[in-house]
Amino acid sequence: MSESPEPDNSAPVRAGALSGTPYLQALNEEQRVAVEALDGPVLVLAGAGTGKTRVLITRLAHILATGRAFPGQILAVTFTNKAAREMFERVEGLVGASAQGLWLGTFHAICARILRRHAELVGLKPSFTILDTDDQIRLAKQVLEAANIDEKKWPARALVTVIQRWKDKGLAPAKVPASAASEFANGRALELYGQYQERLRTLNAADFGDLLLHSLTLFTRNPEVLADYQRRFKYILVDEYQDSNVAQYLWLRLLAQGGGNICCVGDDDQSIYGWRGAEVGNILRFEKDFAGARIVRLERNYRSTPHILAAASGLIAHNEGRLGKTLWTEGEDGDKVVVGGVWDGAEEARMVADEIEALQRQGCRLDDMAILVRAGAQTREFEERFILLGIPYRVIGGLRFYERHEIRDAVAYLRVLAQPDDDLAFERIVNVPRRGIGKASLQTIYRLARAEGIALTTAAGRLVETDEIAPRARGSLSRLLDDFDRWRAQAQTMTPSALAKGVLDESGYTGMWRNGKSADAPGRLDNLKEFVAALEDFETVGEFLEHVSLVMDHDRAAGGDLVNVMTLHSGKGLEFDTVFLPGWEEGLFPHTRALDQSGHAGLEEERRLAYVGITRARKRVRISFAANRRLFNQWVSAIPSRFIDELPPDHVEHMTSPGLYTGRGAGRQGGPDAGLSEMGMAFANLRSRARPGPAIDADARRFEAAKRRGAGIVGVGDRVFHQKFGYGRILAVDLNKLEIIFEKAGIKKVIDSFVKPA
Ligand code: ATP
Ligand code: MG
Repeated sequence: MSESPEPDNSAPVRAGALSGTPYLQALNEEQRVAVEALDGPVLVLAGAGTGKTRVLITRLAHILATGRAFPGQILAVTFTNKAAREMFERVEGLVGASAQGLWLGTFHAICARILRRHAELVGLKPSFTILDTDDQIRLAKQVLEAANIDEKKWPARALVTVIQRWKDKGLAPAKVPASAASEFANGRALELYGQYQERLRTLNAADFGDLLLHSLTLFTRNPEVLADYQRRFKYILVDEYQDSNVAQYLWLRLLAQGGGNICCVGDDDQSIYGWRGAEVGNILRFEKDFAGARIVRLERNYRSTPHILAAASGLIAHNEGRLGKTLWTEGEDGDKVVVGGVWDGAEEARMVADEIEALQRQGCRLDDMAILVRAGAQTREFEERFILLGIPYRVIGGLRFYERHEIRDAVAYLRVLAQPDDDLAFERIVNVPRRGIGKASLQTIYRLARAEGIALTTAAGRLVETDEIAPRARGSLSRLLDDFDRWRAQAQTMTPSALAKGVLDESGYTGMWRNGKSADAPGRLDNLKEFVAALEDFETVGEFLEHVSLVMDHDRAAGGDLVNVMTLHSGKGLEFDTVFLPGWEEGLFPHTRALDQSGHAGLEEERRLAYVGITRARKRVRISFAANRRLFNQWVSAIPSRFIDELPPDHVEHMTSPGLYTGRGAGRQGGPDAGLSEMGMAFANLRSRARPGPAIDADARRFEAAKRRGAGIVGVGDRVFHQKFGYGRILAVDLNKLEIIFEKAGIKKVIDSFVKPA
């Protein structure tokens, strides 16, 4: 089953013989050593922007150009698909078509490729499906149900996270030590993990963690398969090694035990995925694991100006748990790192957008600018500002704010309130959070809506007065419709923001994420808070919805010159001329959650994140903090991040905004800019007079029903047939509702369009 590697009939060419090749000349001494040390393990341990990725790419090209290996004998692992694509393009640029056939990709992609070839050996069929998070949660729910565990107390998402952590550590159920038992479901997590894996196998499916875990199992249980791959991969190259987790580390170690020509590059100061199971210890242990390893240090930074590099180095020096390294760079000092205080988030967005426009006027490209935020929810204010000014932007590694799952759900709730006929919105949230309105009930609703050409909410409204839908679902549906009515009434008096908060809380939507405990739940909750905050700028729900549709409609040019917006985590490995780092306030950055969950280690990881942020910049860094931030739905006076104090003063220029951004009345403590600021005026122009649509008119309903009866479909005393209840005779007619005595099912209320004369 396993394929044998391509024959190795290449005539080895001594490294160095081609030293004259141009790609080698584009390297400094140390980089060249790292590229040319082709035999045996090599670790390039070096700070940001020193050319680690460049070394890896050149090494790859060098192996190919010197004919030391065929593309199919080289395994190159990167951290993201984007990085993999870029690496491929750059290698191709150096060696042309001979880059085809490389095993170049993320750990997951490569493992999936290997697993497809040997699926049977781990109990899968080659066509196995790879599950996404939603599927995983659904599966975990089934497992919990089968085990009679209360999902309210022990949510499926939390189980998925526990399982994921074990998988990150390379632990199959049989290998989880008793001491690692989680408190989940009173210690039953391990048993559930086993059942979860069983279910996956029955479904012929694997989740993301399985891709690695199964590959590990494959290799450990089948030495001949492992030996095959060890022979095949003559060269192994790994970027961002500091962020590999234990499973990935074990996997690499198994493969490298063959020839041992493994080259890893990384920077302990840029390890930012500890919260997801990455172990910076892997990089520190390299020498022990790979005997005779050659450690290459690169000290010259080619990316940033001296001020930027010095600011970043000064900051990271505050971390204790690090190897420490010297970095230097040549060239003009350039701008100092600019740190600016602003009044609030809106002003921050204004300031950044203004500077972007100013740079653009000077001839700078938008592509060369990035905004790196700590939390996903921070992107909203920038996005709205950009849309307003027509500055094209892209959100990398994530969705634009209003495209995010939880935001769409929240918007759907408001849409149903404003527009009861909005079927799409109704469908989206009728059973979110789950309220026991299952497929069968929904189908009944669809059927009636279709049959009568009415909206789903209207159909639902009729059905809850009958016995068409099973009692439990009917109860939930009826409560939901009552909620809609109540919220609609509230909409007349409450502010949109207060209304939205109430709706999200009372519908159980916020609670669904709060109980979620999954890794992404906190971020989603933050986004929901940001959503409620965004509504403060609007007078009616209708105005807000109008705004959302405008924003969603915004030209989504995929290519072209666009400002890059992303989280600091997604910025890893990238570089830009200008980098904006907003929101440097205590609580936001360092983020409270990191400190609460991991204490000092958490703080150090946050600091590494700050280091990653600053070192993305070639020429300009703009750090900002707001005096007032809407955190957890209320205005708080924010304190500048401790990281700002830690920046070496010689390389920083402080700037405060009062005077620069006027138009703000005095004395509005802790509140947003309520006056008609530039932004407010512009938003005012965007507002329409749209009001929430009225609930479906009762008269129209009566008229409709009368029309139907007039058509003489059925009447009292008629014998009829109903799909679910069978034959019966009509006892009473109330508009479109019929009371029927069924021969088998007894007396039921049903909808007239669901019966046929019999
Ligand atoms: P990070 O830690 O952020 O991932 P890195 O160490 O991988 O950074 P690279 O991205 O490889 O660094 O290089 C940083 C920049 O410096 C790139 O623009 C690269 O082209 C340039 N560079 C690297 N080495 C040299 C060199 N010898 N001569 C000129 N430019 C170089
Ligand atoms: Mg790199």
